[in-house]
Amino acid sequence: MSDRRIPVALLGATGSVGQRFVSLLAHHPLFRLTTVTASERSAGLPYREATRWVQATPIPQEVADLVVAETRPPLEPRLVFSALDAAVAGPVEAELAGRGHLVVSNARSHRMEPGVPLLVPEVNPEHLSLLRTGTGRGRGAIITNPNCSTIGVTLPLRPLRDAFGIREVRIATMQAVSGAGIPGVSSMEIMDNVIPFISGEEGKLETETLKILGQVDMEAGHIRPARIRVSAQCNRVPVVDGHTACVWVELERVWSPEAVREALESFTAEPQKLSLPSAPPHPVVVLDGEAHPQPRLHRDVAGGMAVTVGRIRRTPTGELAFVTVSHNTIRGAAGGAILCAELALARGLVPGTVAS
Ligand code: NAP
Repeated sequence: MSDRRIPVALLGATGSVGQRFVSLLAHHPLFRLTTVTASERSAGLPYREATRWVQATPIPQEVADLVVAETRPPLEPRLVFSALDAAVAGPVEAELAGRGHLVVSNARSHRMEPGVPLLVPEVNPEHLSLLRTGTGRGRGAIITNPNCSTIGVTLPLRPLRDAFGIREVRIATMQAVSGAGIPGVSSMEIMDNVIPFISGEEGKLETETLKILGQVDMEAGHIRPARIRVSAQCNRVPVVDGHTACVWVELERVWSPEAVREALESFTAEPQKLSLPSAPPHPVVVLDGEAHPQPRLHRDVAGGMAVTVGRIRRTPTGELAFVTVSHNTIRGAAGGAILCAELALARGLVPGTVAS
């Protein structure tokens, strides 16, 4: 029987996020990984030799023997995932979009550009309409996946904003070492330690959240940022996978912990309605344990695609407080980007395909 899956390319296939893509795409019903790229150091080698594999499952056989290509056009697949280091992602992603590819990127390079959707498929699917305003690049386009911590926080914020309105959000993260790529931070720095600085991370949470929760202005071809105050403190902790965030929210309307719980648990959106293959049944899962969520226990809920929320309470100063855990390389990177591509495919935005 012929394989009708859409061929896809993966840029930066050898890194921390690239390896997650390789694992997640191995059994994907719609996409088939046919092209892997990385730096000049890796190009020309079989994938199994080029990568320093750190996943718990073996390298899928059909990818292990693929020869790593250089990261530059021409590329055959029209759909391209990017897990490139941000230092090199910008120009190559733009060039591929200009040549008619749909690039779904994890790098920060194009996230804040006016005509580029910064997409969390359950939170702001309407932002994909930006790609129809003519501000895109040639026949192709770029869709960006937000920063890993931002994804985990905006998923619960969307239903809270809809139900109660949001004035202010304060966030303190405890982020896993896999978020720093391969090889990442050294063991001498991170063992027995907490590092209260991750370069550029606080600014990403503070600005990306406002774009994601913002409104599309179709005439101007950009997003009007949400009028919410956001501040963040980001910390690196000795956890392998799974970012934890403590979140304090000042809501606009009357609320109770029970009503917050109901809003979070009942939240579903277009990916669930369309039954997209990577969509979790419930993107936000509320946990009851008094010491939950925890990264080791909860990062893999719904295959790493759901955000777990616990410790929902009212603080003595009247704010809502809660804790989230989300898988940084699955929902926060590769899995989130694959879900973006599934939604784009359903909407007919992948070049050479029509809406389903
Ligand atoms: P990483 O482990 O350092 O991997 C970087 C990848 O980029 C590798 O495949 C590397 O190939 C390739 N690369 C480096 N320099 C290159 C060059 N000059 N030309 C072509 N390819 C080059 O990083 P990562 O953690 O996977 O992150 C990848 C991207 O995703 C980054 O933009 C990051 O900010 C973003 N992101 C990461 C996370 C996370 O949790 N890790 C979450 C969300 C977003 P070689 O192996 O050949 O060097």
